[in-house]
Amino acid sequence: MTLNATNGRVDGSHQRRIDHGAVERAAADLLRALGADVDAEALGETPRRMADAYAELLTPQPFRATTFPNDDGYDELIVARSIPFHSLCMHHLLPFHGVAHVGYLPGERIIGLSKLGRVVEYFSRDLQIQERLTTQVAGWLQRELEPKGVGVVLEAEHLCMSLRGVQKLGAKTVTSALRGAVRDDARTRQEFLALTTRTSHDQ
Ligand SMILES: [Zn+2]
Repeated sequence: MTLNATNGRVDGSHQRRIDHGAVERAAADLLRALGADVDAEALGETPRRMADAYAELLTPQPFRATTFPNDDGYDELIVARSIPFHSLCMHHLLPFHGVAHVGYLPGERIIGLSKLGRVVEYFSRDLQIQERLTTQVAGWLQRELEPKGVGVVLEAEHLCMSLRGVQKLGAKTVTSALRGAVRDDARTRQEFLALTTRTSHDQ
């Protein structure tokens, strides 16, 4: 299966066409409205750089999410811990960044470990809120892999909060989405949460 930025199949992620010229003009307007002298040499390239930066942050990279038959019947949790990610908060267009812990209890198929990070990255390249990002990653794995359970925990610092003093610098917001056995089976849930909370103390 292929995650594609334009196929509209990916939950909640719309096709985004970025009008680069319009973003540059709007960026120049924004700078002007903020009282900046956009004709100053130092700012000459800033609208273009802003447009480039937003285009990059909002363009997910399609990738092939190859899965394999679970021939050996592996039936323990598979967890990728502390996957770094960054995204853009849709309320302030400021970054939030942190780590994702993504795990699943395999059913018939397994997926390459590196792809767990790619899924997080794919959904991060959007105007996001952390809760939605968390459930999108869990929902995608649940749908595409049909595992016995899925767990996703995101820990992130939101610059819109920490830079404005709403939260202390470095304070983390934690969100989780647990599905299937990771939610319903006490032992599996405990194991998943133990694996993921241990990293936060290690860091
Ligand atoms: Zn925000």
